Amino acid sequence: GATRVAGIAGNPVIHSLSPLIHNAWIEAAGLDAVYVPFAPQADDFVRFAEGLRGGSVRGLNITMPFKEAALSVANQASQRATLAGAANLIVFNADGTIVADNVDGLGLLEAFAAQAPGVDVTSGPVVVIGAGGAARGAAAAFAQAGCPEVRVVNRTLARAEMIAGALGEQARAFALSDCEKAFDGARAVVNATSAGLAGQEGLSVPLEATPVDCAVMDMVYKPLITPFLQRAQALRRPTVDGLEMLVRQAIPSFEALFGAPPPASVDARAICLEAIGAAAE
Ligand code: NDP
Repeated sequence: GATRVAGIAGNPVIHSLSPLIHNAWIEAAGLDAVYVPFAPQADDFVRFAEGLRGGSVRGLNITMPFKEAALSVANQASQRATLAGAANLIVFNADGTIVADNVDGLGLLEAFAAQAPGVDVTSGPVVVIGAGGAARGAAAAFAQAGCPEVRVVNRTLARAEMIAGALGEQARAFALSDCEKAFDGARAVVNATSAGLAGQEGLSVPLEATPVDCAVMDMVYKPLITPFLQRAQALRRPTVDGLEMLVRQAIPSFEALFGAPPPASVDARAICLEAIGAAAE
């Protein structure tokens, strides 16, 4: 048979760790397959995806800035992709249809279960900071997992209100300046802003206002321990990093793209840590 081709589409895509993860799994599983980075022009994703319909690329993971466009080209979408308003995984069927899914939320919840196992994040209020695609996906995942209250906090309040409005009665919006109120009684706090990316100062919020057993996560993973997570660690809060989320969403992605679970013999997290130069955790 032919080599199975799948990959990731983003722009920029060169820094993505997904090819490293999937190709390590492909090699260990002995599959005749490749996982390739694609960088369509920023305004050209739809044309790119239409060109792959019914062709020989099996499917794609999707990263910034194409997650919304990926949902829009699909003929069918999972409930979790629809609720997130974005897809991070599309599959091209032989009949020409495109099926969209979003496994970021699954990765997020499993990262909490793995790194903060003592905290039941869905049993109380949770806080999502940010109002971009990542924040919307995280808020939708918590809502779908049954969190009694999802608090969306953003610098621009109107954008937080849009996300909370789309999620319904379970969700409330807060301005970043009202963060302290949002932190009251929280089970979990997720930074889903891009503040804290390598070289940036990071998000300055009063984490000391969270309960002592509140789990704190940063979706940014370069550096692995962001200034935000450093402050949470100094306050002795349980912490969860964005790399764990990335690795956890890659597992269902691999299954969808290659039809088999990834081999357990590969330590995908360790491979990524080596690549981002953070092996000394
Ligand atoms: P967007 O650019 O769409 O969202 C940016 C958000 O960050 C906005 O809410 C914006 O607020 C806020 N923001 C930016 N800078 C600041 C600042 N200095 N202070 C306060 N708020 C700020 O990004 P995405 O939603 O697509 O992604 C967010 C992050 O999540 C990225 O770093 C991405 O790499 C990461 N991510 C990680 C994943 C993982 O698997 N670990 C998966 C997906 C994303 P405002 O609205 O006021 O402008």
